[in-house]
Amino acid sequence: MAVKVVKFGGSSLADANQFRKVASIIKSDDKRKFVVPSAPGKRFKDDVKVTDMLYQCCEKAGSGEDFSEDLARIKDRYNGIISDLGMNISLDEEFAVIEKELKARPAKDYAASRGEFLNGKVLAAYLGFNFIDAADVIIFDTKGNLLLDETVSAVRERIKGLDNAVIPGFYGITTEGVVRTFSRGGSDVTGSIIANAVRAEIYENWTDVSGFLVADPRIVDNPDVISTITYRELRELAYMGASVLHEDAIFPVRSAGIPINIRNTNAPEDAGTMIVPNDYDFSKESMSHTITGIAGKKGFSTINIEKAMMNNEIGFAMKVMKVLYDNGLSFEHMPSGIDTMSITLDSEKLAPVREKVLSEIRREVAPDHIEIEDGIAILAVVGRRMKNTRGTVARVFASMAHARINVKLIDQGSSELNVIIGVSESDLPEAIRRIYDMFINSEPVINA
Ligand code: ASP
Repeated sequence: MAVKVVKFGGSSLADANQFRKVASIIKSDDKRKFVVPSAPGKRFKDDVKVTDMLYQCCEKAGSGEDFSEDLARIKDRYNGIISDLGMNISLDEEFAVIEKELKARPAKDYAASRGEFLNGKVLAAYLGFNFIDAADVIIFDTKGNLLLDETVSAVRERIKGLDNAVIPGFYGITTEGVVRTFSRGGSDVTGSIIANAVRAEIYENWTDVSGFLVADPRIVDNPDVISTITYRELRELAYMGASVLHEDAIFPVRSAGIPINIRNTNAPEDAGTMIVPNDYDFSKESMSHTITGIAGKKGFSTINIEKAMMNNEIGFAMKVMKVLYDNGLSFEHMPSGIDTMSITLDSEKLAPVREKVLSEIRREVAPDHIEIEDGIAILAVVGRRMKNTRGTVARVFASMAHARINVKLIDQGSSELNVIIGVSESDLPEAIRRIYDMFINSEPVINA
């Protein structure tokens, strides 16, 4: 029978009330059989996530300080949830083990992993589901890299004969038996791995927003939710800073062709965002706009190089690239003209080697002129439909021209999936608003 894997983030499990919502979501669809919880997150703006409380405990333990009060506060959070739910379980034994372990070996990853471990125990008991310790099935090599094949086999073996299970997110175990976590937000990755292992029809990732937004809500008022996005489009937007999902959560489901549905625990009736394979058949999809999303990032510099007859000089670009390579720099974009070349890089990474890079480029290619321009923002207009829609780029630039925004750089890849535009950092918010207005507010909804 087809199953769904459901992952719930920290804010979805922050208190008893959230647990109730989660249980009702799970119980409302009997395909939702495999559940991956995060640790309890923030209940209100200035609240502290259990994961952060655990890191703090571990730090104190590591420097020989007394952490009993900190641990007691964590225990109170779980006990609060347990008693508010009217449950009758005790985590005393688990907490005794954690205290002993932290005193003996205050390891950061082990400490942090306990947030998910304990929450998994509580949720499994509340749902009446089986509990599977992630340390039994999620396997890393000794450096902390996930061993996907081994993990998938271990999960399949462990769930044999089980109709359901709660598997805590965020951590696993190395081949040497040491608890390791993914990077922050890593329960998303666990959910994706479990979806792959159980061959889920869908991976539902429940959080506190109703999906990916077309643009940053701090810039555009009340932006639309993206209803469907391909993995590739998502990667473009995520690279530019739009984030809801852990980056490493894409691969395990993408390789298995499983869609991800971002959903809102606090608004379960919202359809959320569907993240689908690149070759997904969109013909059945309802209406959509020409572009899928807009995202921008500040903090770039461009190295502008000019030299007469540059285009005739064989190896010119290679020599410049070699300087970047020797200085450990990667670049973002490199539009060029006949006698000019301009390279966009992360300003922070460039800073420590700035003068060195300039002088080495001068030495290697003897340019007529070279300068660095700072304060550049890059914005990406992303959309799979741009390829088949004439005039998209013209409209992007018209919207910016009307706002008197000077475009410093343009880059459209051969995939025609995105247009990359460089503007002054101070122009970035207005550029995003104008493009949003042009494509979302003023565009009649079209057929996909
Ligand atoms: N609890 C962990 C964190 O705060 C992992 C997660 O929530 O996915 O990063």
